[in-house]
Amino acid sequence: MRRLIVASNNAKKIKEIKQILEKYQIEVVSLKEAGIDIDVEEDGNTFIENSYKKASEIYKIVEGSMVLADDSGLAVDCLNGAPGIYSARFAGEHGNDKKNNEKLLDLLKDKKDEERKAKFICAIALIISDDKIVKVQGEIEGRIIDEERGSNGFGYDPLFYIPEYKMTFAEMDSELKNSISHRAKALKKIEGEIKKLMEEE
Ligand code: IMP
Repeated sequence: MRRLIVASNNAKKIKEIKQILEKYQIEVVSLKEAGIDIDVEEDGNTFIENSYKKASEIYKIVEGSMVLADDSGLAVDCLNGAPGIYSARFAGEHGNDKKNNEKLLDLLKDKKDEERKAKFICAIALIISDDKIVKVQGEIEGRIIDEERGSNGFGYDPLFYIPEYKMTFAEMDSELKNSISHRAKALKKIEGEIKKLMEEE
């Protein structure tokens, strides 16, 4: 079975990626499970640049494994696309979801419903071999509500409301979120490459 290393240390993100890719005959492992202890600096200007940087730096040090990296975040219209590529460290400390959500609620406290449009963006870079590299991006639109709702998911999920489902991401079960999310959409775009790879084996 081919091995795919997910170049991330975000356990919840890895869980989602594993769940979405479980139908393929691929062994999906995290950096930790692969015994790699590296934090790649995310200093690119776009989600795509950052995801490719993460994937390529890990690809350089592994042999025979495919590497996938996801760089994702939230873009709020009335904040000119912020927090964007800085989503994980919006309130300063990397990965402090509680503080990030508090900061977002505070910045939007005087905004009306129609001013609260936002989207989640997920860029994925997949390196299959030296000359087989796929870069894709998936998005989902929604709205930032004025208080947290739900306890599933991670990050900004309790504040990200999707009108079609009348639920935040954090109110959805993982199966539903993982079938419609920005991450699912990006991964669907690389499905063709993954299928081709399976047929070649
Ligand atoms: P990354 O690990 O640098 O890609 O940072 C991703 C950050 O964006 C996370 O820490 C979250 O704050 C946010 N984010 C990305 N995807 C999601 C999601 O599916 N739900 C909620 N927040 C997300």
